[in-house]
Amino acid sequence: MRHTMRAEYEHVGASGEEESPGHEVRTWHMVRGDGNVAMCGRVLQPEAETRPDGDWGTWPKLSCHTCGALYLREVA
Ligand SMILES: [Zn+2]
Repeated sequence: MRHTMRAEYEHVGASGEEESPGHEVRTWHMVRGDGNVAMCGRVLQPEAETRPDGDWGTWPKLSCHTCGALYLREVA
């Protein structure tokens, strides 16, 4: 199973003023395949930025802990 990192942004949908994804990544999640539902269950924007799963760990402060634990268990 392939995995992809997908970004969760600040302010998304909070006020309704943000039409397009911002550039402030709040958290990187991991999705299975290239879907938009994170392994932790959070639903992400289909158009949110993605990264190859090999980049996991590049931004430890921004990485979802739940996704990280599940991902590492699946690829172990
Ligand atoms: Zn997550």
